[in-house]
Amino acid sequence: MTDHRGIVYLIHFKTPFKHARHYIGFCEFGNLEKRMEKHRNGNGSKLMAAVTAAGIEWEVAKIWENVDRGFERQLKNRNGASRFCPFCKDEKNRRDAR
Ligand SMILES: [Zn+2]
Repeated sequence: MTDHRGIVYLIHFKTPFKHARHYIGFCEFGNLEKRMEKHRNGNGSKLMAAVTAAGIEWEVAKIWENVDRGFERQLKNRNGASRFCPFCKDEKNRRDAR
């Protein structure tokens, strides 16, 4: 399983869930829609299940295509989700403009 490539996606929660504001996941090419449907139904990940059960709305903020799980790990390790998240950037820009 070297160099196995697929899609990494970043999900932004409209309301923070405990300390989490994002979920980063990996899926196969062509599986993104199915995976999102699973998440909407509270499946596919413990965190997403908890978020869905809590009634928190979320959106796919960004996807990276043709990347591997190492990239997913990097994103998670660097805690870089909010840096890459367009929704969080918008919020920050609005704050700065005030
Ligand atoms: Zn965000």
